[in-house]
Amino acid sequence: MFDYKAPEQLLKDKVILVTGAGDGIGKAAAITYAQYGATVILLGRTAKKLDIVYDIIKEQGYPEAAIVPLNLDGAGEHDYSELANTIKSEFGHLDGVLHNASLLGERTPLSAYDANTFEQVMKVNVHSQFLLNQALLPLLEKSPNASIVFTTSSVGRKARAYWGAYAISKFATEAMMQLLADELGNISNIRSNAINPGATRTQMRAAAYPAENPETLPTPEEIMPVYLYLMGNDSLNINGQSLDAQAQKA
Ligand code: NDP
Repeated sequence: MFDYKAPEQLLKDKVILVTGAGDGIGKAAAITYAQYGATVILLGRTAKKLDIVYDIIKEQGYPEAAIVPLNLDGAGEHDYSELANTIKSEFGHLDGVLHNASLLGERTPLSAYDANTFEQVMKVNVHSQFLLNQALLPLLEKSPNASIVFTTSSVGRKARAYWGAYAISKFATEAMMQLLADELGNISNIRSNAINPGATRTQMRAAAYPAENPETLPTPEEIMPVYLYLMGNDSLNINGQSLDAQAQKA
C-alpha cells in the first residue's frame, strides 16, 4: 500500500469535488476527505446514493457536504458552467477535484466493440473531465494550492486485449493529466496528478472479473493513503505524476 500517514486536519477548510461519489472508491474518498476536514461536493448520477454518502458524513460530524446530481453521459457545457457558478456563489473557490467516475464498457475485441458504447465510455471517462476542468479552472486558480487528481488504470499505461474503450479512455486520462501538469505547473498554484487504484473491491472490479473472490481484494477504504496524499499540502511539489495506490496487481 502507498506509504503515507495523513495528519488529522490535512484537508481542513478545503473544498473538494469528487465525481462518482456515490459508490466504490469515490464514496470512500468523499467520506475520507470529509473525515480529514474537507467540505466535499458529491457529484454523481444516482441521487439516492449521494444522499446516503451525505448522511454518513453528517452523522460522523464532519463538515457538511454538498450534493450535485449530474449524469456525465448527458451533461453539456451549460451544466458544467452552471455547476461552476453554484460553487462560486456557495464557496468562492475550489481546492481540489477528484476525477473518479468511470464506465467500464464492454470486454470485447475492438473489432466487435459496439460503437455507441465506445462513444458513451469516451464521453463519461474523457470528455466530461475536459469540460469539468475547463469550467472549474477559474475556481481552482482562486485556491492557494489546488490539486487535480485523475483516476487511471494499469490498462491506461499498457493496453491489454479486450479492454476496449476503457483502456483507450485511461490512456487519454493520463495524457490529460500530463498536459495540464505541463501547462499549469510553472504558471499557477494548480498541480495535476493521477492515481492507479489497483485491483479494489468494487462493483466495477466484480463486473470485470466475475470469477474473482472479492474478499481477496483490498477495500476502497484501505487504498485511501495516496488519495489523501495527493489532495493535501504534503504533495505540493508533486506534479505530472501517475502514482499507484497499492503494489501492482492485474
Ligand atoms: P464503481 O463502478 O464502483 O463506481 C463508479 C462511480 O462512477 C459510481 O459512483 C457511478 O455512479 C459513477 N458513474 C458512472 N457513470 C457515471 C455517469 N455517467 N455520471 C456520473 N457518475 C457516473 O467503480 P470503482 O469505484 O471501482 O472505480 C472508481 C475509479 O477507479 C474509476 O475511474 C475506475 O476506472 C478506477 N479503477 C478501479 C479499479 C478497481 O479495481 N476497482 C482498478 C483501476 C481503476 P452510480 O453508482 O450512480 O452508477
